Amino acid sequence: ATFSDLGLSDPILRAVAESGYVHPTPIQEAAIPVVLMGRDVLGCAQTGTGKTAGFTLPMLDILAGSRAKARMPRSLILEPTRELALQVAENFVKYGKYLNLTHALLIGGESMDEQKQVLEKGVDVLIATPGRLLDLFDRGRILLADCKVLVIDEADRMLDMGFIPDVERIVSMLPKLRQTLFFSATMAPEIKRLADAFLQNPREISV
Ligand code: AMP
Repeated sequence: ATFSDLGLSDPILRAVAESGYVHPTPIQEAAIPVVLMGRDVLGCAQTGTGKTAGFTLPMLDILAGSRAKARMPRSLILEPTRELALQVAENFVKYGKYLNLTHALLIGGESMDEQKQVLEKGVDVLIATPGRLLDLFDRGRILLADCKVLVIDEADRMLDMGFIPDVERIVSMLPKLRQTLFFSATMAPEIKRLADAFLQNPREISV
């Protein structure tokens, strides 16, 4: 298959071509059309499979065409570490080159004043680690009522790092009517329990 078979719009296909990608990876081929349909996804995939583009490309497509209001992000990507969050943000910039979408990177160790300013202007995509997101939320800087696309990436690492209570608190503040994409390298019982709690009728994808 090619990327243009998957239903992505031209501005995204152009950015993908410029990234040098010729063929979608198996997880991209499976996930992209499902995400574009609005379905939830339970993805069992390791890093290195191309899963980041598997969720960012269709998310960009879904978000394109409208804009966020002040303090009201339209989507949230949760990552367990600063490094992963940074990589996802770089991917967003690269794949979103021909779209007018904004993002904020909410990770520890970065200036909170800068993050507050960006949030105040309104961002389409939040890319965050759980602790910093909750910190800004508790300071009243983020309203989650418009946040209708959620990605939980590397859920097994969230579990190992003790972030599950934070993740559960964050998810409880999001709208019930949303699209959720949940990825984990393993599907231990505790991970499966979380997936059952967060997802509605998900398509299961294993690569
Ligand atoms: P990820 O599993 O998302 O961390 O991606 C692993 C690496 O594969 C990254 O360096 C991506 O830039 C690269 N990549 C993702 N999708 C493709 C593709 N369809 N063709 C070639 N490389 C890709």
